Amino acid sequence: HARRLEGVDENIWVELVSLAEQYKTVNLGQGFPNFSPPSYMREAFSKAVTDEHTLLNQYTRAFGHPPLVKALAQLFGPLFGQDLNPLTNVMVSVGAYGALFSTFQALVDEGDEVIIIEPFFDSYEPMTLMAGGRCVYVSLRPVSEQKPADGGKPLDSGGWRLDLAELEAKINKNTKMLVLNTPNNPLGKVFNKEELEEIANICVKYDLLCISDEVYEWLVYDGNQHVRIASLPGMWERTITIGSAGKTFSATGWKVGWAFGPDCLLKHLRTVHQNSVYHCATGAQEAVAQGFQTELARLGKPECYFVQLRDELQKKRDRLYRCLTEVGMKPVMSQGSYFMIADISVFKSEVPPPTDQNIPYDNYFAKWMMKHKQLAAIPMSAFYSGPHKKQFENYLRFCFVKEDATLEAAEKILQKWS
Ligand code: PMP
Ligand code: GLN
Repeated sequence: HARRLEGVDENIWVELVSLAEQYKTVNLGQGFPNFSPPSYMREAFSKAVTDEHTLLNQYTRAFGHPPLVKALAQLFGPLFGQDLNPLTNVMVSVGAYGALFSTFQALVDEGDEVIIIEPFFDSYEPMTLMAGGRCVYVSLRPVSEQKPADGGKPLDSGGWRLDLAELEAKINKNTKMLVLNTPNNPLGKVFNKEELEEIANICVKYDLLCISDEVYEWLVYDGNQHVRIASLPGMWERTITIGSAGKTFSATGWKVGWAFGPDCLLKHLRTVHQNSVYHCATGAQEAVAQGFQTELARLGKPECYFVQLRDELQKKRDRLYRCLTEVGMKPVMSQGSYFMIADISVFKSEVPPPTDQNIPYDNYFAKWMMKHKQLAAIPMSAFYSGPHKKQFENYLRFCFVKEDATLEAAEKILQKWS
């Protein structure tokens, strides 16, 4: 095998998805909705492939189906404060995964260092390594003085903060890029404007590139605001922003994702893309284009899908929070995304830690829970680098983008348990 594959052969999704199936679990593990995308979009997809007189079963433009890049540029231009050219500032790929992979391959060189904020969506690490880069980690940590000593509001995911001095100390002449994910998977933290300004200032000061993974951009709760770091001063020129139709329209199986950025960076992503996947399914891109055209006209209105999905998910999150609390777990209220983490330390007497000290407790517990309680969740240590896994081994990540019947089944399991 090629040397670039060394150390990237294990994948948490491949492993846990198959275990979740094997134990016939109620699945709050892998992040995908178990309900359908909007019906008008499913009809558009279906029409795209069934019409007699259509070219939508054939190749389209390599870097994005023209109606889709046009709709993306139109919707996101004002959000970035940029006049976006659909042909040069937007590239569509096979899911956010495809857009991320092109970005790492295009911009990270042998020996470059990439700063990754923990906890992180696991793929950033292998993607950095496969590009020949080195990962440098800096962890978000719960800020202790925000803990409810007086029985006040419990710490939410916004209370997990980045230590800027620690971040700055990790930058050297080899540092090429910083990877940001807001709303964050798995924590559900939504970085606020001040935090993003501080990160942006560091990127500008040290001339770093930034990958901002914003696939959960519409799923921000309790009136929190999603701020795009590329819209801050000095950032557009150095940032690639990643998005996903899977998350935007509850269609993770369609695998349509994209990257926004300045042409001087995107042209290198296009080089990777044209020589690897070339383009992604035309019918899916057509349906997503129609999705954006329709939602653009409804933006900010109550019937807009982005608003409806967000409001639905906030209710599901609150329900999950309640039932996790009832069983004795300590959930950390999520500000955004599909996910919420919960502290499982209370179970250490019922489910004693494994004798092998190298196995993180949450990993062991998640497998125990699948097998004995038929409930699947993801160990939070999966979102940390090797040496840091043990420090954050007391949490599970629960996914709440599920039908109410699924959440009810999970609730029943938890109630019976407590
Ligand atoms: N980034 C984050 C933060 C994710 O959680 C995921 C997983 N859904 C992706 C990227 C990949 O998205 P896609 O399914 O569009 O490839
Ligand atoms: N992004 C999703 C999650 O975090 C799933 C990723 C995957 O299955 N490869 O659960």
